[in-house]
Amino acid sequence: MRKNMIAGNWKMNTTLSEGLALAKGLNEALKDKTLKCNVVIGTPLTHLASVVAAIDTTKIGVAAQNCADKEKGAYTGEVSAAMIASTGAKYVILGHSERRQYYHETAEILKTKVIQALANGLTPIFCIGEVLKEREDGRHFDIVDEQIKASLFDLSPEDFGKLTIAYEPVWAIGTGKTATAEQAQEIHAHIRQTIATQYGATLAENTTILYGGSMNAENAKDLVAKPDVDGGLIGGASLSVEKFLPIVEAF
Ligand code: PEP
Repeated sequence: MRKNMIAGNWKMNTTLSEGLALAKGLNEALKDKTLKCNVVIGTPLTHLASVVAAIDTTKIGVAAQNCADKEKGAYTGEVSAAMIASTGAKYVILGHSERRQYYHETAEILKTKVIQALANGLTPIFCIGEVLKEREDGRHFDIVDEQIKASLFDLSPEDFGKLTIAYEPVWAIGTGKTATAEQAQEIHAHIRQTIATQYGATLAENTTILYGGSMNAENAKDLVAKPDVDGGLIGGASLSVEKFLPIVEAF
């Protein structure tokens, strides 16, 4: 059975002390609650070790937002998957549209990042999604298929089974414009079918597929009520406990 997940992506926000306060606040808010989903927070790399030490990681998983596509060595400024794993973080967000767009991360680079993450025991939260023009042209199904195939379909079934997928229409990220629950369900079901075609129905059924794009306390319930929407990847609303908590409680 696949697991539900609500994951926060803090992006390049919070200093270390601000990030620690946010993580501790969430930890406090969740400590007496029985959760119906996995909760993950994607912090800046500089915060990982301190956040892991400050919270109950059996309740809140910690994610990096990127990792290097190389194992180790002379790559100034890069942070490897092994380094991330050594902080106690268990997840890494890969393929976010901001990394594809601003840092020119290609399908091939992302493929190597996924391999590095898996080799070091990290769970990739792998983002896919179309830009507005592609949706207007009716190409969104083809775009997500291409993204999945190009970066993930060389993985063994065993490795593919370790991934979480996040469908994030780029036109909905940080814009306040959300896909309707029906639009999300339609494309999530399509993504699951694409996975089934390559890896079989059981593995597809067991794959967690998150929705991301201006998810908030108001729209979360409708989105996660859809059968193929297994949770969310949350940007803006993950930066305050007050906004993030109701999303975690949407299940
Ligand atoms: C994101 O960046 O992954 C995201 C979904 O952002 P927001 O929730 O702010 O749209």
